[in-house]
Amino acid sequence: MTATPATPRLQRMRSSSLSHECLWGSPEALLGWEEARTQVLVFNTGGTIGMGGTEWDGGLAPAANMLVNALKKMPMMHDKEYAQGMKLYNSCEFADNTLVLPLSKRKKRIIYSILEYSPLLDSCNMTTDDWAKIAKDLETYYEHYDGFVILHGTDTMAYTAAALSFMCENVGKTIVLTGSQVPIYELRNDGRSNLLGALLIAGQFVIPEVCLCFHHKLYRGNRVTKVDTGSFDAFSSPNLSPLANAEVDIKVDWGIVWRASTTKKFEVHTNMNRNVGLLRIFPGITAATVKAFLQHPMEGIVLETYGCGNAPNNRPDLLEELRKATERNVVILNCTQCLRGSVASTYATGQDLAHVGVISGGDMTPEASLAKLSYVLGKKQLTWKEKKQMLGDNLRGEMSSMLTGIQSSLRNSKFIKVMTKFISLNCKEELGSLIPSLACAAAKTGEMDALKDIEEMGGNLNCEDYDGCTPLHVASREGHLQLVEYLLKSGASVYAKDRYGVTPLMNAIEFRHMEVIQLLRQTGAHLSREELEDAGTKLCLLSAKGDVGGLKAWHLAGVDMEQTDYGGRTPLQIGEMAKNTQVLELLNNLKTMKGSSK
Ligand code: ASP
Repeated sequence: MTATPATPRLQRMRSSSLSHECLWGSPEALLGWEEARTQVLVFNTGGTIGMGGTEWDGGLAPAANMLVNALKKMPMMHDKEYAQGMKLYNSCEFADNTLVLPLSKRKKRIIYSILEYSPLLDSCNMTTDDWAKIAKDLETYYEHYDGFVILHGTDTMAYTAAALSFMCENVGKTIVLTGSQVPIYELRNDGRSNLLGALLIAGQFVIPEVCLCFHHKLYRGNRVTKVDTGSFDAFSSPNLSPLANAEVDIKVDWGIVWRASTTKKFEVHTNMNRNVGLLRIFPGITAATVKAFLQHPMEGIVLETYGCGNAPNNRPDLLEELRKATERNVVILNCTQCLRGSVASTYATGQDLAHVGVISGGDMTPEASLAKLSYVLGKKQLTWKEKKQMLGDNLRGEMSSMLTGIQSSLRNSKFIKVMTKFISLNCKEELGSLIPSLACAAAKTGEMDALKDIEEMGGNLNCEDYDGCTPLHVASREGHLQLVEYLLKSGASVYAKDRYGVTPLMNAIEFRHMEVIQLLRQTGAHLSREELEDAGTKLCLLSAKGDVGGLKAWHLAGVDMEQTDYGGRTPLQIGEMAKNTQVLELLNNLKTMKGSSK
């Protein structure tokens, strides 16, 4: 195996300046090149935020192409001066619709492109097909962007957010829905701050969930419901506190962020079952109404019951209709009509529902329950028993389980208390701030037990040290395969970038840890745009040096091996000049394989 020199950080920064020139063109544009850049893709599906017209001249309606032009004129949403110095690649997707935010407080330059849907929709007109389109687009562009924002009408945003949270499996990047109560063009509006908040969150944090950003708060997408038609504070997440609060600073509550905890790749499931519905119990509801609602082809319903899951138990006719339906394998999920709280088996009126086969929906919102039903019943390969089991499982943090309830925050953990006493630190916060360094040190030396202890005590294994380096970066660099697997299964993000924009995958490539590269790729890891910008040059260099191991590592990481260097030469051409037989054999084989797979 070829010994690999460690890449000094200085060298990395220099190479990143070259790539920057390549992307941004003129040297003047290199001013401030050391800022970290992130790319966010915005899907504009419609909604009030971009609607034209006024309420008094015929009502608001979606208007094509208006939004991007309006945003370009808003200094807070677009740094014109910076943008003028930048020359995008001709091939850049959505070049005309690409804008740049002014430098953020965290010194990040967020570049965002807007993909406008046609037609733009009032969200009241959205259907399951529209959810599928958004999900498919997320899949298409997933590898090309750091985060995603979905502009959407507020009326059905909670449904779409819940549906996408299930349809998107093994999410590793931040996906944020937002919109507004008043169009962004009006003098007083909430569109600007909501969009800005969503962009800052999607561009600066890896919160691997489908979220909803509104009125300075970031919520889990499957926990929200629209509660107000006339306030900017239109959404509520009654059973889960916000994931982040955007006040003077944006503060993320990392302790409650949901993580896929998997070594599987991101994928979308778009086959939602449409034979589902919501039935709200009310005093005097007739058995005939219930019977009609449960008729074929209905396959699953969310039954909205009173209080903590109660329905009349002095109505045998009603219970009989429910029983008949569950016996026909119609799934009935019990959900409370109350805004806050959970279904529980406190009362006989609730227990009788369980006896006729109704499943508890815990503290799920009706929107999340409906989306979950549609998602689970759309899984054709599962048996009915497996589907029922899945409905009771906490799939995306949509319900409070015992486990999520006791998940302690590091700040309050026993570990912190004991350690504070032991090393006589002045305050808990002081120790909390040591956790990233401790976790990275454990990842370096391969101490699985130490990492497990930190995690058990509520420590976040996705934490970043002073250089933005996560334990996964370190374990990948050191080639600790088991540790990498453990971290991934504990929810570590393969998309984390350190201060220099380096991903764990790049660390594994640099040190030729083939098995780690393979595992990271399996989990969906890919090199970032910055890392790929000068890939051709790096490959040519490896080819010139005869570094077969290095070339194999890049290939395993999914990189196109026919990229050219700055002189337009491919690694194969360089290999021919250097006459290295091993390199030539490898690159020729790869070329043949690529040709035959076309
Ligand atoms: N009817 C609009 C929609 O949902 C309302 C809004 O965006 O606030 O598209």
